[in-house]
Amino acid sequence: MPSFIVKLDQNKCIGCGSCAAVCPENFELQDSGKAHPLHEKIEELGCSQVAAESCPVQAINVEPAE
Ligand code: SF4
Repeated sequence: MPSFIVKLDQNKCIGCGSCAAVCPENFELQDSGKAHPLHEKIEELGCSQVAAESCPVQAINVEPAE
């Protein structure tokens, strides 16, 4: 069972690239200029939490899975 759910609001994303820079294993910028998470369900917070904290527009949320 996944432990955490990663959500990224592309309507908020300004494409700064910060999340992909600090956590390339779970975030990448798409050709559209918006980021997206490679894994929406993760077992460990790892750098995904760091990426969420690095986002200047709070577009990333990492929540415990139900
Ligand atoms: Fe988008 Fe936030 Fe990632 Fe920057 S850090 S690319 S604004 S989701």
